[in-house]
Amino acid sequence: MGEGDPLIVRTDRRRCAVCHHQGAVRYVTFPLHSRRPIEMELCSEHLRALVARRLGVHSFEQLRRQLVALGLDVNEVFLLHEAFYDGQGRALQPAGEV
Ligand SMILES: [Zn+2]
Repeated sequence: MGEGDPLIVRTDRRRCAVCHHQGAVRYVTFPLHSRRPIEMELCSEHLRALVARRLGVHSFEQLRRQLVALGLDVNEVFLLHEAFYDGQGRALQPAGEV
């Protein structure tokens, strides 16, 4: 809701799963009905875009392909599911920039 202090996280030397930029943070989430978490390394730009539900079509596709390789569908990941992106990966409910 934009009412808390900004989240500050130090990046490490890993590469972003979307753009391969070096300097990423690890985002961990549990797919729907799964007890096994998945991890995504994301740069600051793509972490912000994921959390704000406003990934670009190409970025969404990058994550979708990597999830498929793990046997997962985007609809099993809350921030990527069909209420937030259409079948082509266009953001449907992007949150605004503060
Ligand atoms: Zn990135």
